[in-house]
Amino acid sequence: MDETPTGWTSSMHIFSRYVSSERSVKDECCLSPTLSAATIVHSTELSIEYEDGDVILRTDDTDFRVHKTVLRLASPFFRSLFTLPQPPSTPEEIPIIPMEEDAEVLHTLISIIYPIRYKLIIDNLGFATRLLRAADKLEIECAIDLIRDSITPLLESVPNPLRAWALAKYMGHEVGEKAAVLRYIKCESSALLRERFTELGYVNALDYFDLVLKRQDALREAETAINKTVWGCSKCGGCPAWRSHYDNAIAGLNPFNDCVASDDLFSLAASASGCALCVDSVRKRNSLATTKTPSSLRAQLRTILSKYSS
Ligand SMILES: [Zn+2]
Repeated sequence: MDETPTGWTSSMHIFSRYVSSERSVKDECCLSPTLSAATIVHSTELSIEYEDGDVILRTDDTDFRVHKTVLRLASPFFRSLFTLPQPPSTPEEIPIIPMEEDAEVLHTLISIIYPIRYKLIIDNLGFATRLLRAADKLEIECAIDLIRDSITPLLESVPNPLRAWALAKYMGHEVGEKAAVLRYIKCESSALLRERFTELGYVNALDYFDLVLKRQDALREAETAINKTVWGCSKCGGCPAWRSHYDNAIAGLNPFNDCVASDDLFSLAASASGCALCVDSVRKRNSLATTKTPSSLRAQLRTILSKYSS
């Protein structure tokens, strides 16, 4: 065991660094260095076989006979693997590399790296996660951005923003993570926030703690900004009638709800107050961009949201 591995064996040592421990025993048993083309029996609808392919990637019941040159160009991982000395082989013998990835993942990655017309369509996050992790592990850089772009709308469609955040965090998907944090801070549904889901187990407890604090701080700052947005009325005085109607209207709403700082809501509150001067003062404020106006509040809330979701 102290012996330095050489040739194809050493290639496999490099390869084995990338396979999980639960598969290592099986993988070692599968490591046939070469295979006669005539003995290729593995074939499923996902298999790919280029007649002049010079290497076989094998997973479970599926073979992918492909070209080392293409794998080398697409992946530093395969470049390193194929750079190492290999045992002599005849044209009929094709090296086999057992792969940990499932057939669907390998089929997709190979389709991405070959210069063929191919449109990547991912419609479920489970597959997306496996695909991204495989592309990352095998260092197929050209696939990573493509997969991330496909994942973004999938994460946005997850109803629970906390679940979307946990998935994005698990996948190292920064764009998805940022979007999920924004949705989480703006979330109106206490039922969603109380939902228990297994993906939360993927994330670090400290990250989750920081996220919860971030939401609490953002909401607190927003509420302070809203409370400070009050101006007097020449009839009602410093505690205008419109304000209590406004407070009633936003009670229970997330402070980042678009309607909270809308001109319309301020106007409605003034109308409901029954004070004509409150109506006038709100109308005047709606047309100004100075402090203590609806537009100023909107700007402050945007700044707070941006600060906590970046
Ligand atoms: Zn008034």
